[in-house]
Amino acid sequence: MTSQWNSPIWHPFTQHALQPNMTKIRRGDGAYLYDEDGRRIIDAISSWWVVTHGHCHPNIVSAIQKQAEQLNQIIFAGYTHEPAEQLARLLLKFAPRTLHYVFFSDSGSTSVEVALKMALGYWHNIGEPRSRIVVMQHSYHGDTVGTMSVGARGVFNSAYEPLLFDVTAVPFPEHDHEQATFDAIEVACRNENPAAFIVEPLILGAGGMLMYPAWVLKEMKRICEAYNVLFIADEVMTGWGRTGTLFACEQADVLPDIACYSKGLTGGSLPLAATLCNSDIFDAHYSSDRTRTFFHSSSYTANPIACAAAKANLDLWQDHAVRKRLASVAQMQENAIETFRADTRFRNVRRIGTITALDMEVADSGYLAGVGPKLQAFFSDRNLLLRPLGNTIYVMPPYCVTAADLNEIYVSISDAADALT
Ligand SMILES: *Cc1c(COP(=O)(O)O)cnc(C)c1O
Repeated sequence: MTSQWNSPIWHPFTQHALQPNMTKIRRGDGAYLYDEDGRRIIDAISSWWVVTHGHCHPNIVSAIQKQAEQLNQIIFAGYTHEPAEQLARLLLKFAPRTLHYVFFSDSGSTSVEVALKMALGYWHNIGEPRSRIVVMQHSYHGDTVGTMSVGARGVFNSAYEPLLFDVTAVPFPEHDHEQATFDAIEVACRNENPAAFIVEPLILGAGGMLMYPAWVLKEMKRICEAYNVLFIADEVMTGWGRTGTLFACEQADVLPDIACYSKGLTGGSLPLAATLCNSDIFDAHYSSDRTRTFFHSSSYTANPIACAAAKANLDLWQDHAVRKRLASVAQMQENAIETFRADTRFRNVRRIGTITALDMEVADSGYLAGVGPKLQAFFSDRNLLLRPLGNTIYVMPPYCVTAADLNEIYVSISDAADALT
């Protein structure tokens, strides 16, 4: 088809033939975005799950400004800088106590690639090479070739399938069928000598906002530990308060061997990621033998401005007020979703922490469900940024959202069900 698209920009996850208009945003402030014409839009999905305290939080903006004038980039091999040092110390203070080292990169996908390389490097360096990765059905870990390999296979990656490496997928722990997941993990651990199990703790995001309880996470970790399989927690989305605690693993008392953080790490202001690991993994690479070096870097590893932004974000988390705010957003979300639980137009009405999700009752479901783009257009007309995953509508607001904002969002969700079913 010859393109009628009138811009040189190729947007992500966008079918330009079907979506010819991009909304041009000029300014962001708290939970709101303002377009060119001054129209105010409520950012109900935190600009793709990254904005935590709100757009342009003054503390983060000022940290960025100060750092930009001081040192804005420096090679990170053989060199270090104060924002990275301070950030790493704070990260270890907040993260599960098993994690002792911080490796910086620049996106969620790269933080997962780093995690996989750390896991394989560990087994390689201790002389027991292992390479099999166990994953959970419906998972999402990124869009690079390695992270697609450990993520759900489907329409998103069928063209690249020949390049994806083979993994062992265990079923998602459906309510009352959790044992099937445990059994599958156990079988994989026993028979396949896997290097690691990677999982999104408590909620699978892009796979459809699928939630499972803390005790399941804990049991999965217990099995991995029993078989000496590394446990990788991909907290790229769940981190920074989304599930009601700073990190999702906290709720299950799970101490991962490796954890990936990105998205809200800078409060949603700049790209940055961190992969944290335990000392065994670091020590397996620590050697006078240079072949045991961890051979990974990206040009902007630990960019000082991004680190300063993240440090300002972590400083906010030191303040009890943010945690109180989190609890009140969770409560407001619960109040808002409550009335939908008995609403026959929706299924699987659910919430974890500050995230709610519900599936609209339609004939064709799934990510490419015809209703998806229609919903998005409907919400856009209502001045809402919502981006349903097919017929799954979810609300993941920045923590400065008000009850009035949420009311506007949920009234529109209800109206959308009337208009589109
Ligand atoms: C978004 C996401 C990623 C990928 O992060 P990018 O910054 O988009 O590369 C990885 N894992 C999870 C769980 C995510 O939600």
